[in-house]
Amino acid sequence: MKQKINLLIALSVIALITLSVVQCYLVKTTYNYKVAQFHSEIKEEIGNITNGYSDIDSAFVNKKELLYKQLANNYILDKKTKFYIKSALFQNQYRSELTRKLQLKFEREIPNLTINFAIVLNKFVIYNSLKKADTIFSEKPFIKNKLYGDLASLDNAFLVRNYVGTTSGSSLNQDYKLLTEDSMYVSVIDWETIILKRMRMILILSLFSILTLITLFVIAIKALIKQKKVSDVKTDFINNITHELITPLTTLGISTKILERKDIRENDAQFNSVLHTISRQHNRLHNLIDQVMANSLGEHEIELQKEKIDLETFLNAIIGDFKISNPKTYIITDFNTAKTTLLLDQFHLTTAIQNVLENAVKYGSTTITIKTALVQNQFRISIKDNGIGISKNKHSLLFDKFYRVEQGNLHNTKGLGLGLYYVNQIIKAHQGSIAVMSDLGKGSVFTIMFQV
Ligand code: ADP
Repeated sequence: MKQKINLLIALSVIALITLSVVQCYLVKTTYNYKVAQFHSEIKEEIGNITNGYSDIDSAFVNKKELLYKQLANNYILDKKTKFYIKSALFQNQYRSELTRKLQLKFEREIPNLTINFAIVLNKFVIYNSLKKADTIFSEKPFIKNKLYGDLASLDNAFLVRNYVGTTSGSSLNQDYKLLTEDSMYVSVIDWETIILKRMRMILILSLFSILTLITLFVIAIKALIKQKKVSDVKTDFINNITHELITPLTTLGISTKILERKDIRENDAQFNSVLHTISRQHNRLHNLIDQVMANSLGEHEIELQKEKIDLETFLNAIIGDFKISNPKTYIITDFNTAKTTLLLDQFHLTTAIQNVLENAVKYGSTTITIKTALVQNQFRISIKDNGIGISKNKHSLLFDKFYRVEQGNLHNTKGLGLGLYYVNQIIKAHQGSIAVMSDLGKGSVFTIMFQV
């Protein structure tokens, strides 16, 4: 059964992990899709705004073409170097003006987004009259080749459009054509937040479904473990009660057989002795059944007959009786509560305290110390023993019905696991509480607390 539960837990954990991984993969795919969708929206909007640049400033387009032609002339006529032409291209005086104009345009047309951009020149090629290409430069998009814009790097930017321009000119009666290619890169401030906002519903739903699954899984496993414990405890109880019943029943059986013998019936002394045995075993059986019946009541079903009790006198009476039946146990009392009286059920409370004292002896104690104290409106009775003690991980189970520390068939001490359950029910019925402090081999202290 335990192996089955472990296997079930392992399989469920694997299923949960797989589901979480699949969920993460789906969320990541959606994220990528949303990013791509966002990029194409921006591309479309910007594409509409910057269609050919001429609608931004046609004068600028003319000036730009003039500059390109002038540089082409410089190259053809003045034999300036390619390096000179390239540097002159990037030192154009329209840089800041066009940057500002484009920024303004973006702000006006796409007011809900903050956009940074860069237009980088990738190619500057002169075709002479024979259509022979003379490449001044041709490079991949590179931020150092920025014509205009406010971006400092292309790392987080995405390509919006490539623009290829051609201009015709003539120099020294020779016609030439200019081919330029530039790319626009854009970066949207806080784009991650925008995407996350768009994915809000998906994120919430997937998180919710995963959390619900984990919660249901934990609840199911807890219920399974609890069920297993209950079934173990019940099996133990049946073993214990069978064990307890078998002795009186066997004795009764043998006694009846003996009584059938004529010689015994004719001998008064022997007959009476067997009768005594039968009566003792009958009482024992009765007590056992009474114990089981009494402990089947919950705290709310117990009817208390409360009366005013002077606690120290009450405890002294219980200790007196206990000493008679346990003459070898040394009892120390340390009472510090003077004449405190409380409304309690004398009968039930006597049984409860007796149970704790009997347990102390049953589980190896030779000395018991009983203390009383008044602490912050609480009347405390602590019962300390020097018995075998209880390991800390068992403390929370001690007051459960039928629970015994020694489980399975390892019983050295007789019991049904009902003593402390009963004590707890009685004390709870009095609106009090009980706590245990103990460790294996270090004795135990049971503290009963009542509100004054
Ligand atoms: P029972 O004594 O019939 O087994 P109880 O409900 O009285 O049942 O006690 C539950 C378990 O708690 C016991 O089986 C025992 O292992 C442990 N226990 C109770 N009192 C003590 C104690 N004073 N010292 C050590 N172990 C104790």
